[in-house]
Amino acid sequence: MRIARTHAELDALLEQHLHAGERIGLVPTMGALHEGHLSLIRAAKDACAVVVVSIFVNPLQFTDENDLAAYPRDDERDLDLAHREGVELVFLPPVAEMYPEGATTTVTVGPPLTDVLEGAARPGHFDGVATVVAKLFNAVRPDATFFGQKDAQQVAVIRKLIAELSYPIELVVCPTVRDAEGLALSSRNSRLTPEQRPAALSLHRALQDGERVLTGGGDLEVAEKQMWATLSSTPGVQPDYARAVDPETFESPRGGEVLLVIAALVGKARLIDNLVVELPSEKGNR
Ligand code: AMP
Repeated sequence: MRIARTHAELDALLEQHLHAGERIGLVPTMGALHEGHLSLIRAAKDACAVVVVSIFVNPLQFTDENDLAAYPRDDERDLDLAHREGVELVFLPPVAEMYPEGATTTVTVGPPLTDVLEGAARPGHFDGVATVVAKLFNAVRPDATFFGQKDAQQVAVIRKLIAELSYPIELVVCPTVRDAEGLALSSRNSRLTPEQRPAALSLHRALQDGERVLTGGGDLEVAEKQMWATLSSTPGVQPDYARAVDPETFESPRGGEVLLVIAALVGKARLIDNLVVELPSEKGNR
């Protein structure tokens, strides 16, 4: 496994693969790797000749300095995990390499998608995501890129970024990896105390409750209220939103698939989760 810390090093290591026309897969991460990240790496290994993992805690996508400062980092452990998965190349740039002094150019995927839910809770967050991902696409020139369904709104943003900036890149979305009790794996789970774990489990429970309402023929509003009730009735959980939306636009569902999305604060950790539900019949219209 090779490690590149600059664009020049990355170019040098990619050259032979690009020249040989090998299929290159990119897995963008912010490090603190867990089984969720590893599932993306495995999917990339299955589909590509060369897998590039980027590890970069992107300051541009943080709206809270304390959150950025508290973000878990362990490069050595991450590199060891990537190596064990057979990753060919890790791009591990310092902040100044990605955002040289004086850089002012950013990429914006426009509203409404980026203004609602996570976009409303974290203004500017998706500009940071779109900017760093566009830069990674330009640097790595992958044929395919692998993202987790765990961050469903991010997936919708990246889908638009690829389509609207005409990147010739296949977007592969991998299912959410959960622990044995249903908690979606997240680097932010490391901020949960053991006492807060039962509260964190209410997110998955709320989604299942919402799903039950919809598959039982209930309305979208009823599903939303049920999810909110499950979250707000759990001690130690401060719900932010619980919505049923269209998986691509994040506006009102048009029928077919509905995405249940929730966010809640548990202690110091802001957790998000989601579930795709197939509507039984014409339940899409409000
Ligand atoms: P992050 O390091 O949190 O920016 O995540 C990097 C990638 O891993 C993103 O595409 C995430 O959606 C994905 N990811 C994070 N957690 C999970 C999970 N539990 N299951 C599947 N993918 C995940």
